[in-house]
Amino acid sequence: MSAPLPTRVDVAIVGGGMVGASLALALGGSGKRVVLIEAVAPGAAGQPSFDDRTTALGNGSRRVFETLGVWPHLAAHAGAVLEIRVSDAGHPGAARLSAAEQGLEALGYVVPNRQLGAALWKQLAAHSAIAIRNPAQVSEVRLAADGAQLTLDAGGQRESIAAQVVVAADGAHSLVRAAAGIGAEIVDYDQVAVVVHVATDRAAAGIAYERFTATGPLAVLPLADGHYTVVWTLAPERARQVCALGDAQFIDELQRGFGWRIGRIHRAGARAAYPLQLSRAETMVGQRAVLVGNAAQSLHPVAGQGFNLGLRDAALLAEILAAAPDPGAPAVLESYELRRAADRRGMIGFTDGLVRLFANDRPGAALARNVGLVFFDMAPGAKRALSRLSWGFGGDAPRLLRGLPVS
Ligand SMILES: Cc1cc2nc3c(=O)[nH]c(=O)nc-3n(C[C@H](O)[C@H](O)[C@H](O)COP(=O)(O)OP(=O)(O)OC[C@H]3O[C@@H](n4cnc5c(N)ncnc54)[C@H](O)[C@@H]3O)c2cc1C
Repeated sequence: MSAPLPTRVDVAIVGGGMVGASLALALGGSGKRVVLIEAVAPGAAGQPSFDDRTTALGNGSRRVFETLGVWPHLAAHAGAVLEIRVSDAGHPGAARLSAAEQGLEALGYVVPNRQLGAALWKQLAAHSAIAIRNPAQVSEVRLAADGAQLTLDAGGQRESIAAQVVVAADGAHSLVRAAAGIGAEIVDYDQVAVVVHVATDRAAAGIAYERFTATGPLAVLPLADGHYTVVWTLAPERARQVCALGDAQFIDELQRGFGWRIGRIHRAGARAAYPLQLSRAETMVGQRAVLVGNAAQSLHPVAGQGFNLGLRDAALLAEILAAAPDPGAPAVLESYELRRAADRRGMIGFTDGLVRLFANDRPGAALARNVGLVFFDMAPGAKRALSRLSWGFGGDAPRLLRGLPVS
């Protein structure tokens, strides 16, 4: 049972998607009065965070979920990635990264977003200290030096909540970010990710493939049930075309684009399309407001790092807010921004750089890329660094990532 709705809280979290729900759980035992407000029920077909996609979780994220008690609900649905094979279509350069060579159980885990939502919300429901408003849409946020005032629309009823700080976990088009007057730099990649689950005549055995093609990266990720999820990045017009194809023709096109590494594709599920942008808020904090996850930055999925980065936002923020007598005080929020800066800058730069490197068709670029892949394949240090990406890009690791509760 969740707590009854209070009218005055310490922390109001707007958005109960992957990052907001994780943050609420992290704050659950902190002694702070917390309310989580989510517009769409977690199991609903139109839930934008917990939809038909899958998410590749790094080992750092697994550790956070273990600490929060979420992992036992997820483990059976998590496809372990034992090896990643990278190739550049039409060129000889290729590289492999293996969990065994890195002394790891797995390089990461692929989980269906719907299962992730079910696991997070199951844990939330068991937490009596977290007040939940769902479905309820925040329609207005007013920020002042001494606190935040939120207006909610819950099934036609208007409600009001006062908070010491409001957390924007409401995604890339964040209402809270706009209310705080924080702008965002948008880079449109002019690419669309077509996501589809496929079954092949050979069961997935923990190998993930990242193939860079002329239209963009094509990722094929192993699922726990032996099938694969495909994230096929295409120019917008081409994405529209492949989404409109009949199943048999779509499978032919995909098989042609990817080849036969996973065997013959014999079934493809429903396709969903995601236009791809980099969105980066100019700052992570405002007056009595703080940004996490996609509200702070949304990344191209090429490296599967957007949620992993957002989860580290949530993990550190929970720890900082839990320790602060006034969690909305400017010095508290500034310390969050400062301590997240290196990881955020590093991961945005790494992801954006990867998209640009493999999209570059200038003479010499393909050669440089392929030489790079060959060198990477022979460089144990570079492989070690890449396999540790999900622990963050520098800065101090949040307590949850070290297996410790937030306070
Ligand atoms: C194709 C694709 C594949 C991806 N794969 C990976 C991957 O493998 N690994 C990885 O780490 N990341 C991946 N990502 C990125 C990942 O999906 C995002 O980082 C993640 O969704 C961010 O979660 P969030 O909770 O911040 O935002 P969102 O998922 O956008 O959730 C926001 C939530 O806020 C709610 N909301 C919005 N406005 C309001 C309001 N006014 N009132 C109340 N509630 C509101 C919404 O209903 C929603 O539930 C991928 C992204 C794409 C597009």
